[in-house]
Amino acid sequence: MGVDISELVRNPGRRLPLHLVLEGSWSEGGMRTVDRIALDGEGFVQLGVLYVEGTVKGRVTEPCRRCLAPVTRSSERFEAFEVRIPAGEEAVDLESPLLRLILSALDPNVLCREDCRGLCPVCGANLNEEPDHVCHPPKEDRRTLGELLR
Ligand SMILES: [Zn+2]
Ligand SMILES: [Zn+2]
Repeated sequence: MGVDISELVRNPGRRLPLHLVLEGSWSEGGMRTVDRIALDGEGFVQLGVLYVEGTVKGRVTEPCRRCLAPVTRSSERFEAFEVRIPAGEEAVDLESPLLRLILSALDPNVLCREDCRGLCPVCGANLNEEPDHVCHPPKEDRRTLGELLR
C-alpha cells in the first residue's frame, strides 16, 4: 500500500512536513525482521520525483552471528532519499526505501553481547548457557555397539 502524497504532488517544489509511522512487521528472508518504522521530516515533489529528508527510525531483530539468539536493535539516522512517483499516481511506496535505509544503517555483524561464546561446533550446544560444556563425541554409542556384538 502506498503513502498518499497528493498534497505534495499538487504543490510541486513546496516543502511540506512528512510524518509517517508504519505499524507492522517486515521480514527479510526470514532472518531479519523490522518493525516500528517511522519517518519524521519533510519532502517535496519535482518532475515526478519525491525528495525526502528526515529522521528514519526502525527496530530490527535478527540472530546473533555466533549463537543465533535473537538480538533487537533500534536504528535511527538522518537520511535524504528520493522516490520516483509512478505516472499519474499520487501515492508512493515508502516502505521499501525505508526498510533498506534502516537495514543498511546497522552493522551486519550483530552479536548478542561482545563476549558471546557461540555454539559448540560439534553438538551445537549454546556455550553461553553451558560455560563448562565439554563435548563428548559419540564414544558411548560405540561402546554400546561393541557390547551388542560381543
Ligand atoms: Zn550470541
Ligand atoms: Zn558440544
